[in-house]
Amino acid sequence: MNGYLKVNDSCPVCAQELHHQRADDGPAYVTILVTAHILGPLMLIAFELWRPNPIVLTVSFSIIFIAMALYLLPRLKGAFVALQWAKRMHGFSKA
Ligand SMILES: [Zn+2]
Repeated sequence: MNGYLKVNDSCPVCAQELHHQRADDGPAYVTILVTAHILGPLMLIAFELWRPNPIVLTVSFSIIFIAMALYLLPRLKGAFVALQWAKRMHGFSKA
């Protein structure tokens, strides 16, 4: 990776070409899928256990959701590129 989400054109160690990766919307989709499936039930549990003020619940879970999504997004993008490389998808077969 080069920056937060930009994939390098090639690997700085082994020179594997990475410019033909096509992660597109996949990482964002999986990030939302995972984050929502973890935090959705937790939100219900937190509500049932502590009955917090709705604004406290909303603000705290929004912060957790954003932090978790920002943490997962570049890692899942890397995983998508790795999966495409491992399955020889797109231009990876020629390398
Ligand atoms: Zn490499």
